[in-house]
Amino acid sequence: MACWKCREPTPVVGLLATLAEDDGESYGDPTARPVEPISLRNITDLPYDLLQVMRAYQPRYAKRESRTAGMSYYQNECRHCGANIGDFYLFGEPGGPFFPMSEDEVALVEVLDVPVIGTLEIEADCGQGGVDLIFERRGK
Ligand SMILES: [Zn+2]
Repeated sequence: MACWKCREPTPVVGLLATLAEDDGESYGDPTARPVEPISLRNITDLPYDLLQVMRAYQPRYAKRESRTAGMSYYQNECRHCGANIGDFYLFGEPGGPFFPMSEDEVALVEVLDVPVIGTLEIEADCGQGGVDLIFERRGK
């Protein structure tokens, strides 16, 4: 994406899950085609190995304070100017990186399947929608 502050292109990463559980409630249907993944936003804790996978794509993915969200969570930082790029902008704004509205915006997104055995414990907020167009277009 283009950084909101310096306008230079910078990579950003985010996590999706096909199935999530929160306080005994299940979200998502892993058998749906195209998949309708749950977005994991405002992540405050995640397994170290998964963090390393994300950092392989975006080394500046780190926990930092967000004044907007009033909490500390894992966020992307611009690789040029270090500006933080909050999850609300990534997932919640139509036309944002993980809320594409056009073919051109979908084409900018790369989807990587992370093989998981068992269950991962992640402290985050679950969100639905926004990413649907990515998977509809790819027929995944
Ligand atoms: Zn920047």
